[in-house]
Amino acid sequence: MALTPLNEALEQLLATVPPPPAAELVPISRCLNRVLAEDVFASMDVPAFDNSAMDGYAVRIEDLPGELPISQRIPAGTPAAPLEPGTAARIFTGAQIPLGANAVIMQEDALVSGDNIQILGCLSRGAHIRPKGGDIPAGSRVMTSGRILLPQDLGLVASLGIAALPVRKRLKVTVMTTGDELVSPGSVRADWQIFNSNATQIAAQLSLLGVEPMVIDALPDDPRLIGDALEQAAAQSDCIVTSGGVSVGEEDHVRHQIEARGSLKLWKLAIKPGKPLAFGEVRGCPVFGLPGNPVSSWATFGLAVKPWLLKAQGATVPSMRRVGVIAGFEVPRAGTREEFLRVVLDDGRPATAFKTGDQSSGVLTSTAIADALAIIPAGVTVAEGDCLDAILVSEFLSAYAAG
Ligand code: AMP
Ligand code: MG
Repeated sequence: MALTPLNEALEQLLATVPPPPAAELVPISRCLNRVLAEDVFASMDVPAFDNSAMDGYAVRIEDLPGELPISQRIPAGTPAAPLEPGTAARIFTGAQIPLGANAVIMQEDALVSGDNIQILGCLSRGAHIRPKGGDIPAGSRVMTSGRILLPQDLGLVASLGIAALPVRKRLKVTVMTTGDELVSPGSVRADWQIFNSNATQIAAQLSLLGVEPMVIDALPDDPRLIGDALEQAAAQSDCIVTSGGVSVGEEDHVRHQIEARGSLKLWKLAIKPGKPLAFGEVRGCPVFGLPGNPVSSWATFGLAVKPWLLKAQGATVPSMRRVGVIAGFEVPRAGTREEFLRVVLDDGRPATAFKTGDQSSGVLTSTAIADALAIIPAGVTVAEGDCLDAILVSEFLSAYAAG
């Protein structure tokens, strides 16, 4: 198989995404990061009634300028009586505007003399009044299906009195790490073993996307055990993400087992890190075979698995932005693969990007230090000072942008 460029691979991958999961009604307190399954319409005006934007006095502009007696006091949360013409109502932020009043004067602009207030200037009609329906008119669409719900979205629906929302059921994704050398953090490690970092890292990436990770114990490099585990996971998952065993060594069994127990649709991408990425299905369950190198699994998750999962969850999100940065390093030899260098950015506008250090795919610290991934297209050399596209790590990881 020839190496597939990332954009082609993404096109192929996204074409395999099944219809989104069914919707379920979930209390808004548990809707953060969930995918909205239907458009939301306002069944009421917001604000629901004309109210004051200031602490001050509600008046009729026809009575200004002048000295007006204070005829009532209206704190927020109390009903207002109609305003007697020729008077002012003491009013507070958020309180109902009395019928007949058409402006609010800020208390800083009114002179209090005994039971009266003196207003020297004039006011424009509607001054400091937040009109009924001024934010959201009843009947309007406030959110579109496919949106991943943010804190402000949940505030917005709460302001409409909506207590629960139809959201997509969460996808269940099995995280399957493979490798004879793996032991779990917290257990005793022999000198030739390594702690399994991918299981935790991949599960955390899934959680950020609102997906339910199901992490199983690391498997040894045993084809039968790996194949059986794939079939077992396929029966209870919407997708499987594996780590390790997709390269060309004779201990790399995952890709062979995807082929043996199902079918392989994609293998080897023209990207660095992450070349051996594999994709296929076992018993109809999509399987992403990520390379075991920790940087590669981290990067391929963001580049390929994330866009797939977001679409599979029914989310419609914008593409990850590419920001322009200045190369603070050189790439004297053109590569054959699109490269994603881990870089830190300085405060310049545009920022200058500096490599995090060793870029080999086993150096996980590079991902922890990086502000961004600088993109070096295949066949391109870079001189210091050149302009490069980069993806901010915050956006690379977030559920609010993909592909
Ligand atoms: P592989 O893809 O199986 O050839 O593994 C490539 C490299 O990644 C090797 O150095 C492995 O030890 C390492 N590796 C594989 N799986 C993991 C894992 N779950 N956590 C950390 N490192 C891993
Ligand atoms: Mg291995």
